[in-house]
Order: sequence, then C-alpha cells, then structure tokens
Amino acid sequence: MRPVNRQKLDGLTTRRWRQRLLSWYDRNRRDLPWRQDRDPYRVWISEIMLQQTRVSAVLEHYRRFLRRFPTVQKLAAAREPAVLAAWSGLGYYRRARMMHAAAKVIVKQHGGRFPGGIVELRSLPGVGRYTAAAISSIAFDAPAAVVDGNVERVLGRVFGPGLAGESFWQTAEALLSHKRPGDFNQAMMELGATVCLPRQPRCSTCPVFGLCATRGHLEQPKKVIHQKQRDICYALDHRNSSVFLVQRPKHSSLMPGMWELPEIPATNRSSPASFTLRHSITVTDYTVRVMRGPAPVLNQGRWVARKNILMLPLTGLTRKILRQAHVI
Ligand code: SF4
Repeated sequence: MRPVNRQKLDGLTTRRWRQRLLSWYDRNRRDLPWRQDRDPYRVWISEIMLQQTRVSAVLEHYRRFLRRFPTVQKLAAAREPAVLAAWSGLGYYRRARMMHAAAKVIVKQHGGRFPGGIVELRSLPGVGRYTAAAISSIAFDAPAAVVDGNVERVLGRVFGPGLAGESFWQTAEALLSHKRPGDFNQAMMELGATVCLPRQPRCSTCPVFGLCATRGHLEQPKKVIHQKQRDICYALDHRNSSVFLVQRPKHSSLMPGMWELPEIPATNRSSPASFTLRHSITVTDYTVRVMRGPAPVLNQGRWVARKNILMLPLTGLTRKILRQAHVI
C-alpha cells in the first residue's frame, strides 16, 4: 500500500486511516481513570493536568484532586490555597489558578453546567485551542481535531517533512472521524504516546504503517536545551512536631504564595549538609543542601504543625525535602 500524500487525501485513504486507527485504539487503549466516563469536568481536569506532565505523574494527583473537588461547584467555592495544596507536586501552578478561575466562571455565567461549544470553552481562563477541542470532542462528540506534541510527531512522520503550524491542524481535521471524534483524538495521541515514540518508533506494531511515508526513517530535529546548574540551601527546623515554613511573595513570578523552607544565605553554607538532593525546574538543575537546625531569624514565616502541612500549598521541592526527611 502506498503512503498517503497530504495534498491528495482522498475519501478512501481517510476512511482507511480512521478504521485502522480506531480498531487499534479499541484493542489497545490504556485503562486510564479519566476514560471511565465522559463527564466534561473530569475530562477538563485531566487535560489541564496532562499539559507538560506525564500520564504516570498525573494518575495519583488526578484521583486525589477529584476526591477533594468532585464537582465544578466544589472547585469554584474553594479557597485558592486549598486548590494549590491539592495541586501541589504537579508544578506549573498557573494552571491550577486558571482552572480555579474558570470554575468560578462556569458556576456564575453558565449556572454550573459545563459549556460544550468551542467558542464558550475558549473564553474560559486557561482554555486554549487544544483544550477546547479536546473537551468538546471527548465529552460532547463535537467534530474538532486536536493537535498536541504527540499528534504533531505522528503526522510529521506519516506525511514527511513539510507540515508546520496551521497545516498540522488542517491535516488532523481532514483525517478526523466525525462519528467518533473524541475516540479518534485520543487514539491519535495514544499512538504518539505508546507506538510512534520520540526516539524509537515501534513501526512494526503500528496500525498505520502502510500509510506512513517515513516508517521510522525521519530524523527528528534535536532540541538542544542548555540546563543551568544552581546550588541552593534550606534550613529544616523541626521542633515539637512543627516545621518552620515561609511563604513566597504573592507577586513573585515563580510559584507566588506557595510555602517552602527558609533559604539559607550563601555565607551560612560552610557546615556539612544533613542531606543533599537534586531537583529540576524547567531549565535549571538544582543541587539542594538541607541543613537540619534552627531557621534563620525572619520577619515572615510561621510554625506549622506536621498534621497541617499538607493543607498548605507547598512547592514541589519542599514536598520532596519533607518526604525525604520523613516529616510528611
Ligand atoms: S509507521 Fe512508524 S513512524 Fe510511521 S506513524 Fe507508525 S510508528 Fe510512527
């Protein structure tokens, strides 16, 4: 069978594509908790969590978040620190703040009913083209194709070099199954996540092998990311079942309002650390030294009882340190 040509995507080819992809998906789809029903609230939460985060890292957070906020009404009524605390560990906290703001809009302007149209969805805080198409197709069967990193990779390999920007979206729209748009979109993303892998695509098991122009022989442009290295040091003052924590400034560009251990200035770093760990945030790799002992005298900050620590929105690094120190 000949590989498909994007300029000549005819009816027979698109039918073949849909049929192969969907029957493969029906047999191979992963059993993920957000696939158990098509509740738009649950679909939305999963889509926001999965942005820039792996499925394996999202699973436990997704369950915990939904236990805490089972409905859009509960989320809208929550205070922001409680939402951030439930989000803690997923990073990119702006997503949680936007979600909280969007929940309020849904309750106030849509009477608590999740809108299904692309235009209304895109007017919600934090909902862009991809997320609106994902929610409307998965939860409402709307014929809207999605393009994320996985779909781009699959289409880029199937059609060969030449696709870019808007043409990814046009091609995904042309291939989309209008009978099962939600399943089709999830199948495209699933194919990229489990078969058409970034480094070594598993072409021998691929349902669209016969339609693919490159079949694993396309060099992916290598992204060169220059990681910065940084040393950082924190005081872990743990007394009488409480820990001393400080809150980041409300207007900080990074993790505003989140709670963390007090940082120790460079001049206090000569004594050996109680323990060391590594942590990465976007393009910076941190070597983190943790000193057990008295916290520096600070104007802000407070003692937090161990049993209440997880109710605060902690930075991911603070959570990691407190886990390693067996405080939480
Ligand atoms: S044949 Fe290989 S390169 Fe082509 S879509 Fe399938 S896994 Fe990707």
